[in-house]
Amino acid sequence: MSTVTPVTVAPQAITLDQEINPWEAQSARFDFAARKLDLDEGLWKLLRSPSRELIVHFPVPMDDGRIELFTGFRVQHSIARGPCKGGIRYSPEVTLEEVRALASWMTWKCAVVNIPFGGAKGGVICDPKKMSQGEIERMTRRYTSEISDFIGPEKDVPAPDMNTNEQTMAWIMDTYSMHARRTVTSVVTGKPLNVGGSRGRIEATGRGVMVACDESLRYVGKPIEGCRVIIQGFGNVGSNAARLMMEHGYTIVGIAEMEGGLYNSAGIDVHQLIEYKYRNNSVLGFPGADPSPADELLITDCDILIPAATENVITSRNAEKIKARIIVEGANGPTTAVADEILSEKRVFIVPDILANAGGVTASYFEWVQDRQGYFWKEAVVNEQLETILRDSFDDVVRYAEAHNVNNRIAAYMLAIDRVAFTIRQRGIYA
Ligand code: NAD
Repeated sequence: MSTVTPVTVAPQAITLDQEINPWEAQSARFDFAARKLDLDEGLWKLLRSPSRELIVHFPVPMDDGRIELFTGFRVQHSIARGPCKGGIRYSPEVTLEEVRALASWMTWKCAVVNIPFGGAKGGVICDPKKMSQGEIERMTRRYTSEISDFIGPEKDVPAPDMNTNEQTMAWIMDTYSMHARRTVTSVVTGKPLNVGGSRGRIEATGRGVMVACDESLRYVGKPIEGCRVIIQGFGNVGSNAARLMMEHGYTIVGIAEMEGGLYNSAGIDVHQLIEYKYRNNSVLGFPGADPSPADELLITDCDILIPAATENVITSRNAEKIKARIIVEGANGPTTAVADEILSEKRVFIVPDILANAGGVTASYFEWVQDRQGYFWKEAVVNEQLETILRDSFDDVVRYAEAHNVNNRIAAYMLAIDRVAFTIRQRGIYA
């Protein structure tokens, strides 16, 4: 187990609202890491703020004949290391501030795994659950058209995020291509296979989470055999991580979902659970485990806890009660800065989101490379390259943490900021 001195990243007295504000969370970690790096004041200011923010208000004809006005965002945080990269989310709760924080996170994530991208994020304020497929398609195409001067294979490459998927990416690719008068597959990643998608992309984030678990156990000197894992979220990341990890010898003892959770100390058969959820649209009632309150599962005894659902689930309210010795963050931003401090004092080994869930953006990088080459790799090649990058990145982060006597999250930020700042210094400031 790492003998790292706890660090204070959180302000002394803040409200829960401030604690869970994504921009505050990102900035608290950034400022702490920048201070540790003794970052030049000018670069600090530059990297703390996004490079460009686009807000678009655009009309969409709805099925009932009305014209609805939607608001969308695209924020580009940094292009220092290459084109921007980052998802597009559809949600009634999307705000510019949230998108801004997520764009910065993407810069740090790409730099941690050392792929040649900067960070961006996009979003449209809408409730896709209340819209027809036709309405979602028209909204997607018009939003794409509104941001089309901003995006492009060498400028900014979107991807799926909350409530967007392969189909959304296919529409974006098609709309952009119609404007360009040629097919431009590399303008987005996360596309279906037959329109330029990559093999291995769908399970890449879950695979990366497994690699982070393997490496964590190796680092703390514990075996995979007998390792008890609880996962929150059984969607793309959680279910793929659970399946791959069970196949790899882990015992998945708990799954926490929106509507409730499951526990089985002897291990849950994840293949059966995936099939059950597919048939029933819920994990509840699965015969191979006992029901358990979802919140309780986060603080239930286990060796590895994987929050793979959503942000701000480990806060000042529950961090003290967490029993897992290792936390691998499949989700983005699951732990608040205040909770970080508590967990650091408890010597919990955390693999931070910008490293643990970077399998997705790494596979997206492979998709972009394949599209540009017009040559598509076998799945085994994608998986092997992915695992190599993630193992190397894990090693970089833990070595950096040891060398600077900080925890893994601060190390990941420091490493990322250092890489971006180094590139900016080399390029120089154009004036
Ligand atoms: P998803 O929508 O496929 O799955 C999320 C699952 O979590 C759903 O089954 C949902 O019901 C469940 N959930 C939501 N809130 C919950 C809560 N409070 N308690 C318990 N369960 C809850 O999403 P996903 O693609 O698996 O993404 C999950 C997280 O991982 C998000 O934070 C996302 O930003 C992050 N992430 C995803 C990828 C990717 O490639 N999909 C890459 C990097 C990061």
